[in-house]
Amino acid sequence: MASHFVEISCPPDKLYDEAYKHAKIRKSAGTKSYGHVRLVKRWIDARGRQVRYGLRYELMDKDEIFNNTAPYQKSTSYSPIVHIIGAGPAGYFAALECLIHGLKPIIIERGKGVRERRRDLRAIQQDGIVNSNSNYCFGEGGAGTYSDGKLYTRAKKRGNVSNVIQVLIDHGADANIAIDAHPHIGSNKLPKIIENIRKTIEHYGGEIRFNSRVTDIIEDNGKAVGLIVNEKEKLYVQQVILATGHSARDIYALFNRKNWKIEAKPFALGFRIEHPQVLIDEIQYNQNPRHENLPAAAYQLACEIDGRGVFSFCMCPGGLIVPAATAPGEIVVNGMSLSRRDSPFANSGFVVSIEPRDLSVEKDPLVCLKFQQSLEQKLFEQGDGSQAAPAQRVVDFIAGKPSYNLPATSYIPGIYPCRLDRMLPDIIVERIKLGLNIFNRRLRGKYITDDAIFVGIESRTSAPVKIPRSNRTLEHVDVKRLYPCGEGAGYAGGIMSAALDGQRVVQAVAHRLKEEGLN
Ligand SMILES: Cc1cc2nc3c(=O)[nH]c(=O)nc-3n(C[C@H](O)[C@H](O)[C@H](O)COP(=O)(O)OP(=O)(O)OC[C@H]3O[C@@H](n4cnc5c(N)ncnc54)[C@H](O)[C@@H]3O)c2cc1C
Repeated sequence: MASHFVEISCPPDKLYDEAYKHAKIRKSAGTKSYGHVRLVKRWIDARGRQVRYGLRYELMDKDEIFNNTAPYQKSTSYSPIVHIIGAGPAGYFAALECLIHGLKPIIIERGKGVRERRRDLRAIQQDGIVNSNSNYCFGEGGAGTYSDGKLYTRAKKRGNVSNVIQVLIDHGADANIAIDAHPHIGSNKLPKIIENIRKTIEHYGGEIRFNSRVTDIIEDNGKAVGLIVNEKEKLYVQQVILATGHSARDIYALFNRKNWKIEAKPFALGFRIEHPQVLIDEIQYNQNPRHENLPAAAYQLACEIDGRGVFSFCMCPGGLIVPAATAPGEIVVNGMSLSRRDSPFANSGFVVSIEPRDLSVEKDPLVCLKFQQSLEQKLFEQGDGSQAAPAQRVVDFIAGKPSYNLPATSYIPGIYPCRLDRMLPDIIVERIKLGLNIFNRRLRGKYITDDAIFVGIESRTSAPVKIPRSNRTLEHVDVKRLYPCGEGAGYAGGIMSAALDGQRVVQAVAHRLKEEGLN
């Protein structure tokens, strides 16, 4: 029998009943025996009256052996050096890819190592102190470290996606991420995985420098030739990957000052919406409480209003809303969750897409960034100087009236009542209201409830600026040997796509060096 696939459906209470599942597999495969079987995909099917698991198995003659042997090569003093700015998913996966191609990666990261970073997150949460080099976006592992760790991507090449997943598993992630339709890791597990990836990079001769902010990029004759670190140290470079993420506003300002091409990019902005998790479970599973074998229920919603998307973003079932500002004087929220997703709250971004032309007719490449920043600062200025965030009940937002009190929230710095419906331009507020009504109909009229709140402001959904690169060489269109990469350059929108872009850029660098006989 050659390898082939079967799908079965299974109620939650039979999820761990091997005899039940094998009987169904045999029936579905039309055979009494098979050599080896492995689960390759698991999803939740909540379409029917009873929620069920969908399971896809691969049946084989004999055991398939995963080849987990790392294909990395130890770099030597002859290996060409690739400087990588930023230790986020794009930067770390670029570094691992360098080790496959015989290149030596040197990563320069403005923030701290993943463990020391925790202290700064505590300071934001508990004391409202934002360190502009170490926060929920900056530091080892990038914005992905203290996140939900959802590993979704729209990337089509399954082989590449499986490769990233396998690297994460090899570095300590739960093997279930290879089979779950909506895999996630959780912010309690991610730091250890990031640390293990760093150890691999260092073991094979790569270097990582923390507390090192790139403050200038030196160009000569249209080529990147040097970096200035922390405003004083000069590094000579041969090729530089720029993977600084969507919040590195100083990098966008640097490009603008130097007249190197950048472009305003559509992005999305709105609020975090938070509900009790039991309510989302009830809507999605029709169960309260949900079965112990079912995970906290999630949702994904999207519609179009007047040609602009209104959608849920980065939904965190059983999660927490977190303060994601990257500089003092800003209020920005985002969401994360632990691997068990067991908080009593469900939160999600609720955002509206914004085009540069919605904001200005001027051709300012920083127009979206400035709009984003001005709103974050406005929310801070009307607060008490802490990271407490403004909030409004969703029913009051729709009715255009203040909330006199607010329900409990997962947001540790605290929330206070505010007319969020007056904080954004009317056109955005109207789209949010229309979107709420559409989503409410889709979620059986239970999404708009007294217990649902908006917390402001969710503004770092993606980069508001694009750093364009050549389609052929992937170098910046004005500066050779400078490779814009990952989310900050506008080529990724999440952990997986950032990791994939890091790999892709290094493949282009390696190809170039090979053509020139330098590797
Ligand atoms: C709270 C939160 C939750 C999230 N949840 C998820 C999720 O569940 N799933 C998902 O797919 N995505 C999630 N995201 C988004 C995801 O983290 C990003 O899409 C991803 O990390 C982008 O990867 P990147 O490597 O391109 O950039 P980043 O991860 O942003 O990394 C950029 C790195 O560059 C460094 N840097 C910046 N400027 C400089 C400089 N001048 N010099 C040196 N270093 C610099 C930064 O410190 C940072 O470490 C979340 C983001 C946040 C903030």
